[in-house]
Amino acid sequence: MNYVVGNLVEPIFRPPSEWDALLIGVTNGCTHKCTFCSMYRTKKFSVRKDIEDIKNDIRKAQEMYGDKIRKIFFEDGNAFVVKSETLIELTEYCHQIHPNLKKVSSYAHAKDIIKKSDDDLKRLADAGFTMVYVGIESGDDQVLKECNKGVTQDEFAHAAQKCHRAGIAWSGIFLLGLTGNSPEKSHRHALESAKLINRMAPPTPMEWYISPLTLEVTPGSEIWAQKETSDFQPCTATQVLEELYTLIEHTSDDLKGCIFNTNHASNYLSLKGELSKDKKNFLKIVETGINNPAVRRPEYRRAL
Ligand code: SF4
Repeated sequence: MNYVVGNLVEPIFRPPSEWDALLIGVTNGCTHKCTFCSMYRTKKFSVRKDIEDIKNDIRKAQEMYGDKIRKIFFEDGNAFVVKSETLIELTEYCHQIHPNLKKVSSYAHAKDIIKKSDDDLKRLADAGFTMVYVGIESGDDQVLKECNKGVTQDEFAHAAQKCHRAGIAWSGIFLLGLTGNSPEKSHRHALESAKLINRMAPPTPMEWYISPLTLEVTPGSEIWAQKETSDFQPCTATQVLEELYTLIEHTSDDLKGCIFNTNHASNYLSLKGELSKDKKNFLKIVETGINNPAVRRPEYRRAL
């Protein structure tokens, strides 16, 4: 259960692993409009300008929940767009008010990570900001362009290395099925995504996270409209799993500390372990899923 306070505007989203975090509104909506995403389409993007007002929320949570707060997630879709000084001030205040706080995180667009200097990222990490969740979706520049992500493979690799250097944990989210029912595009999407994962590996041992999700075509997104006019044909479950197989297969055997997780409810199979340690086992499970539909999560139980 999330801890909430203040005037968050519905709908509210957060990463699954932040299910027990205090949610603090720093921005409202998202700065981008990716073609597959309908999450914030009903919200006009804005930044909460009054820092004292945000601090009030942080303080009010202490009054409501005492010292229970261990995680804080800065809402909404891209709180990392906010100026470094503001994020540092808010992060420091969170730790000052909540003595048992272990984690402060937000969604972050890679371009906004790149815009921040290495020094700013380091100061943010030193203030106690611990993790960014980055929607990568694909390593294939063509796919990234078509879905309007606004980032290239090079930029994602650069943003990840900046975070590693600063000591901010990197959690990258890929999107299986994004290319639709085109075997050639799907294969390239998987190969380039594996290549990007290899390029994002930290130079020194540390934990980092990769979580593939599976596309669900939702009303309000551009892909939904394309599907209605037959311009976009979704992948079959078998194609999605073949994509996952290729992606895992082509990740480097030298990866270390990479926690790989497909537990998200949109996925057909749940994998959790470490790349490359568990790679063979992952491939065996995915191969079984490709050949045996009975082991897959049924469509009615898939959700975003
Ligand atoms: S996928 Fe992420 S960056 Fe793109 S519109 Fe949705 S929330 Fe914003």
